[in-house]
Amino acid sequence: MKNIEIATNIIVCDYNELTDIQKKLVTQAKEACRTAYAPYSQFNVGAAALLDNDQIISGSNQENAAYPSGTCAERTTLFYAGAKYPDNAVTKLAIAAYKGDAFTATPTAPCGACRQVILETEHRYKTPIEIILYGEEKTYIITSIESLLPLCFGKTDLE
Ligand SMILES: [Zn+2]
Repeated sequence: MKNIEIATNIIVCDYNELTDIQKKLVTQAKEACRTAYAPYSQFNVGAAALLDNDQIISGSNQENAAYPSGTCAERTTLFYAGAKYPDNAVTKLAIAAYKGDAFTATPTAPCGACRQVILETEHRYKTPIEIILYGEEKTYIITSIESLLPLCFGKTDLE
């Protein structure tokens, strides 16, 4: 018997250290928080995806009184991107969240279901997706969802 340690690399930075395109995606993710329908959680989340054709698709969480019928900002965004531009890979994804009267101080990470959908999107287009998790005090940059989903179950497990 032995232990396996799995390391995760996350870049921690300030908003000002982001590149222009990363800033643009964060801005669009923040703007998308305004379109959230979150009467139950009051937690407005926005996401913005950059595609390899330079299009940016954004989306927000859409809740439902029957909770499982709603969906998160990340899935709203990635499913819409896949439906509208099925031939274009997603290369970056920014996420921001607004609670009360401010954006969260710390980054908001995607839930388990969204991590699985981000993984599927990476595998579908054979392209890692850079994930930018915005917080007012610090922002995280992750180079692939595999860093947030070790020992993942994906397409290759079914082949
Ligand atoms: Zn989610």
